[in-house]
Amino acid sequence: MAVSIKSEREIGLMRDSGKILAEVHAKLGEAIKPGMTTLDIDRLGEKLIRSYGCIPNFLNYNGFPASICVSVNEQVVHGIPTDDRILKEGDIVSLDAGLIYKGYHSDAARTHAVGKISEEAELLIERTKQSFFEGIKAAVEGGHLFDISNRIDSYISQFGYGIVRELVGHGIGTKLHEDPQIPNFAQRRKGLKLKAGMTLAVEPMINMGRCDVEWLADDWTVVSADGSLSAHYENTILVTEGEPEILTLL
Ligand code: MG
Repeated sequence: MAVSIKSEREIGLMRDSGKILAEVHAKLGEAIKPGMTTLDIDRLGEKLIRSYGCIPNFLNYNGFPASICVSVNEQVVHGIPTDDRILKEGDIVSLDAGLIYKGYHSDAARTHAVGKISEEAELLIERTKQSFFEGIKAAVEGGHLFDISNRIDSYISQFGYGIVRELVGHGIGTKLHEDPQIPNFAQRRKGLKLKAGMTLAVEPMINMGRCDVEWLADDWTVVSADGSLSAHYENTILVTEGEPEILTLL
C-alpha cells in the first residue's frame, strides 16, 4: 500500500481545493428547502463548482451520471439526482460532493434537514457528524490508521446505530480515491502508521437501524436494508504533527 505524502506545494493546492468545496457545501446547505428536486441540487452544485473554475470529480466517475450524490432518508450514499424526487418537509438529505482544483481533489459530505425533522433524525445527523470529530482525534503523526476507525465505532456504538461496513473512507490527492481505505468500524489490527502530509477523506455513514445495506437496481444508490434513516459526514483532512487540519471546513 503506497500512501502518498504531500509536499508543501501540494498541501497548498489541497487547502485551496478543500476551501472551495467547503464554500460549495455551505451554499448548497443554504439552498435546501422543501419542494426542491434532487436534480435541482445537482444542477446548483455543478454550477457552483464550475463557477470556481473547478471540475466536479464525481461526474462520470465509473459512469456516475451527476456531479453531486444526493441521498434521501434511507438512502445512504450515491443517490442519483432526478427531476422526480422532490424533497419534502421532514426528509433528511445527504449531499456528497467533490471537486478538482489544479489537479487536486477534495471530497466532503453533509446531511441536512429539510424543514423541520424529527428529534431522532436530528440526533442521528448530529452524532454522525460528531463521530467524524471523535475519529480524527487519532489522525496525528505517529498514530495508527485504525485508531480513527476504533474511535468512530466506540462513539457510535453507544447509540445502537448501525455503522455501514461496505463503504469506507480513503486517501485522496491527485486521485479521488487513493490508499489507504479507512473503515468506520472497529479493527483488530492497528493499521498503518500515520505521517504528516497524508491527506485522508474520513466519512462515517451511519444507519439509525441495522448496519446492513443494499444496492438499488440503478447499481449506484445504496440504501439501508431495514429502511431506516441514514446520515453521512465527511471531510478531507491533512495529518500533521499536531491536530489534523480539516481542509473542507470554512
Ligand atoms: Mg469520499
